Amino acid sequence: MAVYNGYKGANTCTKGPADGAKGAMSWFLAKYKELGGRNSGIYNCRNVRGSSRTTSLHGEGRAVDFGLKWYDKISVFEEFAEQLRLNSAELGIQCIIFNRKIFSGGYANKGWHRYGGVNPHTDHLHVELSWGAANRDLEDTIALWERELGGAGNVKPVGSKPNPKPSVAKQPTDYKDLAVDGIFGKQSVKAFQILMRAVGHYNRAVDGDFGYYTVIALQKWLRGLGYYPSNKYVIDGKAGAATYKALQQFLAQKKTLDAKKWLIDGKFGKETIKAFQRYMNQQNGK
Ligand SMILES: [Zn+2]
Repeated sequence: MAVYNGYKGANTCTKGPADGAKGAMSWFLAKYKELGGRNSGIYNCRNVRGSSRTTSLHGEGRAVDFGLKWYDKISVFEEFAEQLRLNSAELGIQCIIFNRKIFSGGYANKGWHRYGGVNPHTDHLHVELSWGAANRDLEDTIALWERELGGAGNVKPVGSKPNPKPSVAKQPTDYKDLAVDGIFGKQSVKAFQILMRAVGHYNRAVDGDFGYYTVIALQKWLRGLGYYPSNKYVIDGKAGAATYKALQQFLAQKKTLDAKKWLIDGKFGKETIKAFQRYMNQQNGK
């Protein structure tokens, strides 16, 4: 167990994911799938978010995004992130970003410190490999990660998928059409939960309870749609003016809320709820 020292930034885009990165992802999916681990992408030729100049390590195919599906498992992944840091020398990890914290081999002795980038990294661990680790064989990498961190066996080697973006309800949904009555009751909440299940933001019971996990889903969904930016708002499971304002903006854009007639004021009133119900009816069965 040792901490990696050193950092090498990216220069230009290569052609695809490095084998070492694919190996790391294969290992991750086998070990963390049951806890909601997923492949949030390896290769992506783009700049660092929030910068117009710096090439992201994803462009060299040596950054992996270990995704987590369920926000409530965040403590499991906190522990995982720390294991990665403590074994970063053996694994050849030069940088980790997770949950508003960063570890970088560029200043390894500082440990974790605050990460203020545009994306808070609450739904994935961004893990950067050194060139040495990236160039390792896929199979060797899986064996190495199993040796250092243990494994679940049954590793299926992966290729690279592009970063999946949550899409608005493309899968079939099957709730009853809602009465557009401006009352956000159990039926409306259930319909929303079904919709959020279909887009992967909600994995709990469809119980019509507008509680913590349902609000988390609402906030994540709005974030994915670009209405609840991470540099301004947190995903905290508390529905307040910021969440409702984002929802109103989305519904106005979808034209189920008439923004000429009604204020975008962050209040979850009758007209907003009616607009939300109209939207959910439009999505029904799609
Ligand atoms: Zn990343």
